[in-house]
Amino acid sequence: MATMYYDDDADLSLIQNRTVAVLGYGSQGHAHALSLRDSGVDVRVGLAEGSSSRAKAEAEGLRVVTPAEACAEADLIMVLVPDHVQRLVYRDAIEPNLQEGDALFFSHGFNIRFGYIEPPAGVDVCMVAPKGPGHLVRREYVDGRGVPVLVAVEQDASGKAKELALSYASAIGGLRAGGIETTFTEETETDLFGEQAVLCGGMSQLVQYGFETLTEAGYQPEVAYFECLHELKLIVDLMYEGGIAKQRWSVSDTAEYGDYVSGPRVIDPSVKENMQAVLEDVRNGAFADRFISDQDNGRPEFEELRAKGASHPIENVGKDLRGMMAWVKGHEADKDYVEG
Ligand code: NAD
Ligand code: MG
Ligand code: MG
Ligand code: MG
Ligand code: MG
Repeated sequence: MATMYYDDDADLSLIQNRTVAVLGYGSQGHAHALSLRDSGVDVRVGLAEGSSSRAKAEAEGLRVVTPAEACAEADLIMVLVPDHVQRLVYRDAIEPNLQEGDALFFSHGFNIRFGYIEPPAGVDVCMVAPKGPGHLVRREYVDGRGVPVLVAVEQDASGKAKELALSYASAIGGLRAGGIETTFTEETETDLFGEQAVLCGGMSQLVQYGFETLTEAGYQPEVAYFECLHELKLIVDLMYEGGIAKQRWSVSDTAEYGDYVSGPRVIDPSVKENMQAVLEDVRNGAFADRFISDQDNGRPEFEELRAKGASHPIENVGKDLRGMMAWVKGHEADKDYVEG
């Protein structure tokens, strides 16, 4: 069983006695900065001069300075810019301002796990990673609850890094729900695997193949859209509430029996072997290298794949059909993807 921490395990005064820089004011950044501030922490937000996030942070009464200024002032830096940007912000703004005794915090271990950022020995390196999108993290904090967090220490220079990480986790409400102890390696590898094999990659491909199978057999795309994409939400909500068991309990016996006999035909053992190969590429750094190399080249592969995905026929059908359903609309939370 995982080691769990709650508010009773944390000393909030540790983070209240630090000077904190939150770099970035996106999904996670806004939630961390606002909740730290409301927990009595001295926080400033680091954003580039022209950043469109600046006005939003200032409107909330937060002090906004450049990332370099924020790092110069702070003795604890939380890095919440996009993962592929972090090593550049580290080089330009963080590293020149890091001093012995400082702490460097992350919400995802990508850059530390794959060596794109190598902090000096005298600095604590910690992770506080909420297991939910930033807008939920903030809403739960305001409502007196919290979203569970993963907590990890990569480098314990002070001998107090875990206490500091727990204090930070408590200040954003995470320990009201519970903090699960992990490592940078476990968080990074499982996060990348989960989003690639199941949540994003696996699910997108499964939905597209289902839609293609029906439309290529002559069924109407609108009907195929409902059966293979739209109804997924109902199924996922049931799994979220009560596991696969609740989903099977809720659907008809016909659907449940079809699940048992046809699921393993579609997702056969070769799929598990493919998943193991994906996991291997996560662990050996091949995925990270491909992603970052493409980013360094101006991300031609990323843009090509994005355009290809957007032109799949299921997207156009969906646009028209969603227009018929007044309750299906893009709200704030939709902009806030769960997989950071
Ligand atoms: P985001 O894309 O929502 O926001 C990024 C922020 O960084 C924006 O404010 C942007 O203006 C700023 N930024 C971009 N380039 C910058 C630069 N060069 N200098 C300074 N600021 C810059 O990012 P996010 O989704 O909040 O992700 C932040 C971190 O949190 C990532 O490590 C991610 O893996 C992790 N995470 C995200 C989620 C999530 O739900 N989104 C969940 C858990 C962990
Ligand atoms: Mg994840
Ligand atoms: Mg049906
Ligand atoms: Mg995106
Ligand atoms: Mg992720």
